[in-house]
Amino acid sequence: MTAELANVAVLGSTGSIGRNTLEVIAASGGRLRPVALSAHSNLDLLVCQAQALHPRWIVASDPLSAATHDWSGLPSDVELLVGTDGLETVARRGEVEIVVAAIVGSAGVAGTWAAVEAGKTVALANKETMVVAGQLVTELAHQTGARIVPVDSEHSAVFQALQAGRREEVKRIILTASGGPFRNHTAQQLENVTLADALRHPTWTMGPKITIDSATMMNKALEIIEARWLFDLRPDQIDVVVHPQSIVHSLVEFVDGSVIAQLGSPDMRLPIQYALTHPLRLPGPATSLDFSERMRLDFEPADLDRFPALSLGLEAARAGGTAGAVLNAANEAAVAEFRAGKLHFTEIVPRCRAVLEQHQFDARPSLERLFELDRWARQEVMRWACL
Ligand code: NDP
Ligand code: MG
Repeated sequence: MTAELANVAVLGSTGSIGRNTLEVIAASGGRLRPVALSAHSNLDLLVCQAQALHPRWIVASDPLSAATHDWSGLPSDVELLVGTDGLETVARRGEVEIVVAAIVGSAGVAGTWAAVEAGKTVALANKETMVVAGQLVTELAHQTGARIVPVDSEHSAVFQALQAGRREEVKRIILTASGGPFRNHTAQQLENVTLADALRHPTWTMGPKITIDSATMMNKALEIIEARWLFDLRPDQIDVVVHPQSIVHSLVEFVDGSVIAQLGSPDMRLPIQYALTHPLRLPGPATSLDFSERMRLDFEPADLDRFPALSLGLEAARAGGTAGAVLNAANEAAVAEFRAGKLHFTEIVPRCRAVLEQHQFDARPSLERLFELDRWARQEVMRWACL
C-alpha cells in the first residue's frame, strides 16, 4: 500500500474480526476507506455501521433475515445487496482494492473465491477457505495475480518471519497454540466440560466458533492446513508448540538453525493492520508489549493424546484433496451440535474423524465437488447425532 487511499470491502463486518478491522480502518488516518460491509444475522449492527461509515454497499448475506428486516434507517447513499451473490458482487467491484475475508466457516469461501478470481488483495481471516479449497484457491491466485495476505495471527507471524530469509532456506515453521482453556485438563476432566467452559478462552477474545475450535485444538488443526497452502509447505515442515502466553505468534526455522519469531500482544488489530497496509508498517491501535514488567514465555510440546484434533489436522494436510473440506464441514456441524447441547465436547473430534474416514476421497476435486462434500459431511454429523 502506498500513502494513497485504499478502498476496503469487509465481508463479515459485524463479527469479531470485522469489528476489529473497522477499528483499524478508523485509526488509519483516512488511508483506508470502508466501501462495502456485510452481515448475516446482525442486521441492526450492519445498519449502525452503515450510518457511521457510509459505505457504497452493504450486503445482507441471509436473504430470509434481509426480507423481514426494517431497512428504514439505512442512509440513502448506501446500496443494499442481498445473499451470497451480493457478497460476490462487492468482492469483484472495480472500486474495491482490498477484500477482508472475515466471514466464519465455509460460508466465507464464495466471497473469498470471487475476490481471488477478480485479482484483489485478500486479507484472509477466513481460514476455512484454505482448509476447504487451498489448492484451488492458490492456483487461482497465481493465474489472476491476487495477493492473499494472512490475518490469522500465527500465519501473519510466519509471513513476517519469512522475510528474514529466502524461501529455499526455510526448514520448517512452528505454529504456536495457546492450548486453550483446557490445556491442563486430564482426559477425565475433559469429559465434564460445559459450553460455558469452552467459550472462556484464556488469552484471546474471538467469535464463538473459533473459541470452541481453540478448546478442542481443532483450530490448530485447521491452521496446519491453512499454512500448508498459504506458504506452499510440505506437511512435515509444519510443527505445533504450545505457548500459553500467546505473545510469540509463530516461528520460522531456517536451514542454518536460526529461528525467527514474531511477538506482540494478543490483539488481532495488529495482524489485521499488517494485512491491510503490507508492505508498510504504520502506527496503529494495537497495544504494545510491556517489557518493564517481568514476562515469561513458556513453550511445551502439544499432547496429541488429549488433543487428537492435531493428528487429524496433520493427516488431512498430508492427504490433501477432499480431506480438508470434509474435516472442516464435519467440525462446523459438530461444533453447532455442541453449542445446541446435542453433542458432548469430547465427541466433536471423534465425530470428525469418523466422517473423514468414511468419505469418498478424491485427490483432485473441483470446487463444486468440495461444496457437495461439505453438505454431505454436515448431514453425516447431524444423522449420527440423531442416532
Ligand atoms: P464471528 O462469529 O465473530 O463473526 C462472523 C462473521 O461472519 C459475522 O459478521 C457474521 O454475521 C458473518 N456470518 C456468519 N455466518 C455467515 C454466513 N452463513 N454467511 C455469511 N456471513 C456469515 O467470527 P470471527 O470474527 O471470530 O471469525 C471470522 C473468521 O476469522 C473465522 O474464519 C475465524 O476462524 C477467523 N479468525 C478469527 C480470529 C479472531 O480473533 N476472532 C483469529 C483468527 C482467525 P452476523 O454476525 O451478522 O451473523
Ligand atoms: Mg490463529
